[in-house]
Amino acid sequence: MTQVTSSNIGYPRIGEQREWKKALEKYWNGSLSQQELLATTKEVRLNGLRKQKELGIDLIPVGDFSLYDHVLDTALMFGIVPERFQNNGLSASSLDTYFAIARGTKEAYASEMTKWFNTNYHYIVPEFDHAKPILVENRPLTFYREAKEELGIEGKPVILGPISFLKLGKGYKETEFTSLLEKFLPLYIQILKELESDGVEWVQIDEPILVTELSGEEIPIIKQTYQTIAEAVPSLKLVLQTYFESIHHYEELIHLPVAGFGLDFVHGDALEVIRQFGFPQDKVLFAGIIDGRNVWRKDLEQTWGILEIIQQIVEQDRIIIQPSCSLLHVPITKELEHTLDPIIKAGLSFADEKLKEIAILADGLTFGKTKISKEVNESTEAIQRLNQSNYRRKSENGVDLQEVQAERQSPFSQRILEQQEALQLPLLPTTTIGSLPQTAEVRKQRLRWRKGDLSTQEYEQFINKEIKKWIEIQEEIGLDVLVHGEFERTDMVEYFGEKLNGFQVTKYGWVQSYGSRCVKPPLIFGDVSFDHPMTVKESVYAQSLTDKHVKGMLTGPVTILNWSFVRDDISEFDVLNQIAIALRKEIEELEANNITIIQVDEPALREGLPLKRINWEAYLNHAVHAFKLATTTVKNSTQIHTHMCYSSFGDIYDAINRLDADVISIETSRSHGELISTFEENTYNKEIGLGVYDIHSPRVPAKEELKENIYRALATIPVKQFWINPDCGLKTRKEEETIAALKVMVEVAQEIREEQ
Ligand code: GLN
Ligand code: ZN
Repeated sequence: MTQVTSSNIGYPRIGEQREWKKALEKYWNGSLSQQELLATTKEVRLNGLRKQKELGIDLIPVGDFSLYDHVLDTALMFGIVPERFQNNGLSASSLDTYFAIARGTKEAYASEMTKWFNTNYHYIVPEFDHAKPILVENRPLTFYREAKEELGIEGKPVILGPISFLKLGKGYKETEFTSLLEKFLPLYIQILKELESDGVEWVQIDEPILVTELSGEEIPIIKQTYQTIAEAVPSLKLVLQTYFESIHHYEELIHLPVAGFGLDFVHGDALEVIRQFGFPQDKVLFAGIIDGRNVWRKDLEQTWGILEIIQQIVEQDRIIIQPSCSLLHVPITKELEHTLDPIIKAGLSFADEKLKEIAILADGLTFGKTKISKEVNESTEAIQRLNQSNYRRKSENGVDLQEVQAERQSPFSQRILEQQEALQLPLLPTTTIGSLPQTAEVRKQRLRWRKGDLSTQEYEQFINKEIKKWIEIQEEIGLDVLVHGEFERTDMVEYFGEKLNGFQVTKYGWVQSYGSRCVKPPLIFGDVSFDHPMTVKESVYAQSLTDKHVKGMLTGPVTILNWSFVRDDISEFDVLNQIAIALRKEIEELEANNITIIQVDEPALREGLPLKRINWEAYLNHAVHAFKLATTTVKNSTQIHTHMCYSSFGDIYDAINRLDADVISIETSRSHGELISTFEENTYNKEIGLGVYDIHSPRVPAKEELKENIYRALATIPVKQFWINPDCGLKTRKEEETIAALKVMVEVAQEIREEQ
């Protein structure tokens, strides 16, 4: 009998009750000392380690914990501090330098933040300009020792590998990659040597970049790098950890001289790949078979089937069981969810429950399947009960929504004439993106209502009061198309999740999005369908207060899908279509209630792009189809808008065009016209809302700045195609600054209008 090992790749940082987040925010606002912050977060970290041990995990990751972001941790471990933060007298090891880079200061803007692969986690982009790396602290060693001393845990230090770390950063030319790598390599080796002499057995080196489409030119460099590392630490066992997809140049990279390879068997086609190309005899396979990106329990019978296939290729004593990626991307435990329907709850598996599944499977391999038959049966039954429940049955007799025709009655050239007739808007109409400032008062009243201290009627009256106030303000400012302000919404996805069938909003299902910001993605557990109008009341009320048009406001199907935890028993695209049909009903309701302009936001459209380009087309086709399923049953004279926040369009232009939205609003201030150039080059013929000022800053924009942005666009696209608006929703802004900024925007539009 060989003992099969269970392993984990990373554990959530935020604490069951978001203690971590709360401590950080208190520290930032000055109400917690550094010592208290470190004590609280240490408790959170040790708690996580303790739990992993109790749940039966043999190889527990250490050093995956972070006070903000693990990429930033890596940068600071090597003393990589952007120049603009170097003059403040703080050292690279200072916590305040760390937070300054992440969050910016009065004097220096924050480092860029961007998506961690295709997840909703965002990392801080390292800036390697003039990098002179040094080893400030051997972080993995510190955390390894801590776990050992405090808890007697022999941890598996985690470190972001050199190839991924450098590739995720900026501030150097492609041709400088090798020389940059050469500067870091000795430091990586130093870290590993120190770990080796401390008696560490396994070290997890994360190299997720290997799943992306590397050109192939890097392969010799990667080989050389790992050759050098392997020679330097001969007795240390390194596992090269990949996730989110299968390795791109598998046949070549899988032979890198390391003791183990971590593959994701949930996303991508690793199973196919190892069947076809095998797995090296001299390596341990860290098999990521439990989905680290989703919250559904596994039918362990099914997973067992996958393990059996793997065992035909890799002998059991070279298999280690683990999640497909770090559990950073899922909430901590379902135990706290006391109000969920037991059928749904039994079908869930958050981080802790996933670790239990891993431990069970490892036991099964070690002692034989009969040893775990009870657990296997329980999981199968739970999944069956959920699958056979009323929640999930409807789709079986449904139509294939992918086949449903989804086209507007007439082409844009015809529609726009009817819309102009119906709407009677001036040249360069002005509007906003939807949300208006949500004051502390709005949040307070919502909380009171949620707690039952305020009746629904009182709450709605309060919301109406806000709507009325802001309709008056918008009229006063002179905007052409008004919005109701979205005061009733906490979050643009959660709001719909609370109202559509098939969704469930959890109480504690938080995951880290960036820094201390956590999101609570709704669960799509069943067939999605329309239940009752979700936005009509507010829009109709707002419209009743003014002669101007009030724009209806919805979140689009792709964004709802991408920002939710989606059931995994049917294809995501089927779920997407169900959401689209539900939203279509809402749009029809709005139209029937005389709302003639309807905006369907899709900020997550680009985000959802698969990691590998060969999968882009299928995704984009489905995304476009869903958007059109939702938006095309309206009359010609009803105008459909969409909004995408900051997004580059160059490589997805065709899909954007095919959405066939009458108006698309895009950012034009921060990119200095870069984004609009795609529309210029392609002679886009529909209307474009120019996001002329950056709402992320409290600054009131200067007239000249806005004019410049507008003139730039007018130089190539006819003026009649443009709208003028801020670049995103105004929810996070203060009232006074919003009013001041919108006034400037409206004045500028009027002035340019007169020049035409
Ligand atoms: N309508 C939403 C708002 O204004 C859009 C938000 C977004 O694009 N992220 O808040
Ligand atoms: Zn936006």
